Amino acid sequence: MTRRQPPSREAMNDFPTGVAIAIDPLVTRVLAPNPSPFTYTGTQTYLVGTTDLAVIDPGPDEPEHIEALTAAIAGRKVVAILCTHTHRDHSPGAAPLKAATGAPIIGCAPLSLADAGPRADASFDGNYAPDRVLGDGESVTGPGWTLTAVATPGHTSNHLCFALPESGALFTGDHVMGWSTTVVSPPDGDMAEFMASLDKLMQREDRIYYPAHGEPVEKPHRFVRGLIGHRKQREGQILRLLKADVQAVPALVERMYVGLDPRLTGAAGRSVLAHLIDLRARGVVAGDGDNWRLAA
Ligand SMILES: [Zn+2]
Repeated sequence: MTRRQPPSREAMNDFPTGVAIAIDPLVTRVLAPNPSPFTYTGTQTYLVGTTDLAVIDPGPDEPEHIEALTAAIAGRKVVAILCTHTHRDHSPGAAPLKAATGAPIIGCAPLSLADAGPRADASFDGNYAPDRVLGDGESVTGPGWTLTAVATPGHTSNHLCFALPESGALFTGDHVMGWSTTVVSPPDGDMAEFMASLDKLMQREDRIYYPAHGEPVEKPHRFVRGLIGHRKQREGQILRLLKADVQAVPALVERMYVGLDPRLTGAAGRSVLAHLIDLRARGVVAGDGDNWRLAA
């Protein structure tokens, strides 16, 4: 949330919508036409392979994007359509791409939300129907490439990253993004799991990250260490404010996120709530809803 700014014109020039850009001998990127305060320049779909392909995060169900992907695929066989998670900017394009290519949908599990309220409806793709779910460590292979699922719950409970050892790359979806910190929105988003999933990346030796939003991350360990530090800083801020008797989430957000784009206030509140739920589970704070205090 700290670096969350609308994309500059330069960024939009670096990220032309619908154009296939080779970024690695095995990886081509195609940007979807869905820029927003939550998606930066838009969702980046990745094609992996040179002959038979995998497609990672087909993005929104936008005919223009499916056409751009079909053009980039250029008649080659698609052996798998993979989704990192089922937010609406990632997985709805899987079904039309499957219809266009005949490829199976493989990857994250569908989500069964205990809370099927309006918020869940707004951000989750309820129509996602995978042909095969990948568990942690399971792989899909094609000529010259292997994609292995790395379970990384936190942003969502079903989030997977995909490792491509032939390139030393990790496709990080929304777990680690190149432009902003990730929103963790309870009840499906879970701060304790998110932090554990960041620690999990610190145990790996990936050379580069290709996130669904924003630039590639070229120094993964340094970057992830920064994200962990940022979350700990936010946690410290919350505890100081609660000690000073600020108790409601909106009031915490107002003090913690000075100068925030008002369109992002709701998302910031979700991440603050995720911290509070985590702190409550650890016995540090008490409360619920909008009213929180330090535990006695
Ligand atoms: Zn997401």
